[in-house]
Amino acid sequence: MLANYGYKDGSGDYFITINTDLCNGCGECVAVCPANIFIVVDEDPNDPMRDGPVAIVAEEKKKKLKYECNPCKPTQNRPPLPCVEACKTGAISHSW
Ligand code: SF4
Ligand code: SF4
Repeated sequence: MLANYGYKDGSGDYFITINTDLCNGCGECVAVCPANIFIVVDEDPNDPMRDGPVAIVAEEKKKKLKYECNPCKPTQNRPPLPCVEACKTGAISHSW
């Protein structure tokens, strides 16, 4: 399933989506993120029937993604994002 974390405001949509069918809980996104956006949990809070660890966005970060991710996105033509590059299964996407 697609787990969407984030918010929208007057300036745009700021969502990180984790495809939990692709995520294997490897933790690479946790290791590379300078803002500690991700954590890996043993049980998926969005899908208790799912087996195995999965990455989620930390609760305290959900409403601050625009600002927390800003160091990785200095321009509109943003460089490859560390989290997206690190995720070998392609589970992470950003809306902005
Ligand atoms: S790097 Fe990708 S597969 Fe690994 S825990 Fe993060 S989202 Fe899941
Ligand atoms: S863009 Fe940067 S700060 Fe935002 S989640 Fe990815 S690695 Fe972390």
